[in-house]
Amino acid sequence: MTLLAIDNLTKVFGGVRAVDGVSFSLEAGELLAMIGPNGAGKSTCFNMVNGQLAPDSGRIVLAGVDIGGLPPHDIWRRGVGRTFQVAATFSSMKAIENVQMALISRQSRIGRLWKPAARYAREEAQALLRRVGMAEQAERPCGVLAYGDVKRVELAIALAGAPKLLLMDEPTAGMAPGERNALMALTREIAHDSGVGVLFTEHSMDVVFGYADRIIVLARGRLIAQGDPRGVRNDPRVREVYFDARHRVIGASE
Ligand code: ADP
Ligand code: MG
Repeated sequence: MTLLAIDNLTKVFGGVRAVDGVSFSLEAGELLAMIGPNGAGKSTCFNMVNGQLAPDSGRIVLAGVDIGGLPPHDIWRRGVGRTFQVAATFSSMKAIENVQMALISRQSRIGRLWKPAARYAREEAQALLRRVGMAEQAERPCGVLAYGDVKRVELAIALAGAPKLLLMDEPTAGMAPGERNALMALTREIAHDSGVGVLFTEHSMDVVFGYADRIIVLARGRLIAQGDPRGVRNDPRVREVYFDARHRVIGASE
């Protein structure tokens, strides 16, 4: 089932066509990587999907509804969740309390706060922490957790919003390779098992080619290639863009 359909999306800043007629789609349960050199338009695209930016033109259709230009809170309410690049957990609170807070915020979103919220949230929070492999550490403050474990709690917090679509901006930034692989393996398992669609950006090509079901490639605001990891890796346009980008960076530092 098509969860997200982006059609001819465009955003111009001054004279810069940051996102220029981009179209792609994402299926429920799919892990889709968006890659491209710095300035390619990845963040701008993400920020239109999560509502922080309104598109100049084009459509963002989530489960049949055009959400383009709606305010962020509305878009979140309709099932678009996100994790944050910088650790967003409260470090003095226990892991489980962080997840409970997210659950209670969702209950208020769907008008269920009259339920015995705290107890309900506690059981569900425990289940979410189990899902991300953090049940044993539920009672520890986030501030004492290893970085990779904080990232797992952040994933549980994002899942507490019951998203249909999860946006992950460089989820493995700052992580050691072993932790990276474990987090992406977990994310992929959750996507495949629960039907949550995941759109992520990522610098590590090992992570992208190792875990994405499909990859889309942006360069200068345009979508230049898409396909499965093998097809994208061998695509001459992609090789050219990455070679060019590296070349410029080397040139700039000389
Ligand atoms: P990426 O995330 O792929 O590195 P961005 O979406 O951040 O790319 O940027 C795409 C282009 O849009 C760049 O040329 C960037 O300088 C420009 N841009 C992004 N945000 C703004 C903004 N708020 N105002 C002006 N220009 C912007
Ligand atoms: Mg960016």
